Amino acid sequence: MSEAANPFESLQEQVDDAAAHLDVDAGTLARLKNPERVLETNLSVELDDGSVELFRAYRSQFNGARGPYKGGVRYHPQVSRDEVKALSGWMAYKCAVVDIPYGGGKGGIVVDPDDYSEAELERLTRAFATELRPIIGEDRDIPAPDVNTGRREMNWIKDTYETLENTTEPGVVTGKAPDSGGSAGRVEATGRSVMLTAREAFEYLGEDVEGATVAVQGYGNAGSIAARLLEDVGASVVAVSDSGGAAYDPDGLDTRAAKARKNETGEVTDYDAPETLTNEELLTLDVDLLVPAALENAIDGELAHEVEADVIVEAANGPLTPDADDVLADRDVHVYPDILANAGGVTVSYFEWVQNRQRFYWSEERVNEELETVIVDAFDRLTSTLEERDLPNFRTAAYVVAIERVLAASEQSGVWP
Ligand code: GLU
Repeated sequence: MSEAANPFESLQEQVDDAAAHLDVDAGTLARLKNPERVLETNLSVELDDGSVELFRAYRSQFNGARGPYKGGVRYHPQVSRDEVKALSGWMAYKCAVVDIPYGGGKGGIVVDPDDYSEAELERLTRAFATELRPIIGEDRDIPAPDVNTGRREMNWIKDTYETLENTTEPGVVTGKAPDSGGSAGRVEATGRSVMLTAREAFEYLGEDVEGATVAVQGYGNAGSIAARLLEDVGASVVAVSDSGGAAYDPDGLDTRAAKARKNETGEVTDYDAPETLTNEELLTLDVDLLVPAALENAIDGELAHEVEADVIVEAANGPLTPDADDVLADRDVHVYPDILANAGGVTVSYFEWVQNRQRFYWSEERVNEELETVIVDAFDRLTSTLEERDLPNFRTAAYVVAIERVLAASEQSGVWP
């Protein structure tokens, strides 16, 4: 395995690749490749045994031209300043691809949540929310769930913010539990947009997702729900994995039973499948559709030579390095990028925020219908841009569409001061 790519450099290369098809001056290009600001903070948290531990945390605000900064908060030992910067850029371009009125942001804490009690995680989250308070707000920057965070953490952030501000402002954070102002359909939304993107991609390629064989790397929120929804539209999910390895059944797995088993034991490999594989073996299976749904850099240039899938739909953020993209393009593997495919999460976050502001809540059916319209429209816009402008691949088409939207908003605002 070659040395892991720096995700921030990957983001910058992706922007450069798209900018080559646009008329962008050097100063503007630099703006498109760098965050506006990054908060770096050290959180002191009292542990259950009375000792105090310091946790490094970040929030990157990438580009606010199109609206408040928006993006998740991840809890993971590999969180770094560059990772958070990259993820905030991917959020800015993702929101522009699906044309929702947000800029991009992202936060993270360097922590393995499995090593801490719920009470410790609550204190950690409230400490982070306290640091974030001056720079977030429903019109400033709106956090959301990401890797290892969910409703529980969002409810704590909301409560901390509202208590300190002496107000009610549920739209300061999205991905909350329904009784705290969360939206129907939010938990499923990322997996749903992965399924919708796969469905549209197969149709575009003159094929049908029904009957397609699928491998899913990563069985957290995005991966497990994408797998279930793909199974529900008739695909055969043959392999699913988590960090401990993969369960493989060439005749198709029961995605719900695999999730139930993982919930019970913590390992998806405990699901009763005929074979177990390594993650690398899963990523190189001869399947119709591969869904990387874990972390960045799952497939690098080296591994890309061994990928046997025909289509890749990215559920994770940044799972392919730019080198992998080049190799896969040469090998005619069709890649549908993260900033379209996993945009369902932030799109339903937008619906949640709209509902919070109106204090008027939608049915799950309405959420799912509106999400489908957003994803299908974005997909169609990318295909027409790809064809009309003769672009090399869908990722470049996605960045061209997104950058043009960000630039239009920036130009209309002018330069200050
Ligand atoms: N963390 C998700 C993402 O990477 C969702 C962000 C949000 O809802 O703001 O797209």
